[in-house]
Amino acid sequence: MVTIKSKKEIELMRKVCKIVALTYQELEKHIKPGITTYELDQIAEKTMRSLGAIPAEKGYNPGIKGVPKFPASICVSINDEVIHGIPSKHRVLKEGDIVSIDTVALKEGFNGDAARTFIVGETTKENKRLVEVTKQAFFEGIKYAISGNRIGDVCHTIGEFVRSHGFSVVKEFQGHGIGKAMHEDPGIPNYGKAGRGIRLEPGMTLAIEPMVIQGKSNILQLEDGWTIVTEDGSMSAHYENTILITEKEPEILTIL
Ligand code: MG
Repeated sequence: MVTIKSKKEIELMRKVCKIVALTYQELEKHIKPGITTYELDQIAEKTMRSLGAIPAEKGYNPGIKGVPKFPASICVSINDEVIHGIPSKHRVLKEGDIVSIDTVALKEGFNGDAARTFIVGETTKENKRLVEVTKQAFFEGIKYAISGNRIGDVCHTIGEFVRSHGFSVVKEFQGHGIGKAMHEDPGIPNYGKAGRGIRLEPGMTLAIEPMVIQGKSNILQLEDGWTIVTEDGSMSAHYENTILITEKEPEILTIL
């Protein structure tokens, strides 16, 4: 069921999403060669808690047999890792890496979700283009996140934009509604047909998140039960914000 948030609930969504934005502002300062992904996780958790939120990914149980609870406050996925990488004291960022971080804050019963891909120092032209296209795919998609349009209009736009730049979208994972639950209806794939799916209405809050691969779209899951990597070893980037559907243009809640 797709939930329509009340005025009061929208205020709570704005609050928690601002904390996610502030967490990225803090994380960005520390994206440098030499830092471990564990240290980034600690910084994110400390920031969220200092602002009165709980890192919702920590202890998250996907409810799939054999998959352990997620052990950290952020997902950190480097280079060919697409999403759901687990922070580690042994994983050190190095010059040229592209680092995708995805995190969710929970406060007063509501969740805010966003992802960013950071470049460590300098990287290749092609990696930079991947990161830029992934981010721009989000902004192209939300041009259609207008009351009265259908969700397929957004999905189709993202998929076509990515394809037009010679990259692939991940098919197995998708964006989602968000609110009291981290994942609510509708599912929002990064591809699809225009004019299909639910009709957008003011008060819907949606996490829209292009996951893009330089090479083929095929992915694999590592034995840790979480980390998703590209099958062909090519680079991947991720960009996500929680948005609010309004009477006019969508409001991006996880950007300051
Ligand atoms: Mg997310």
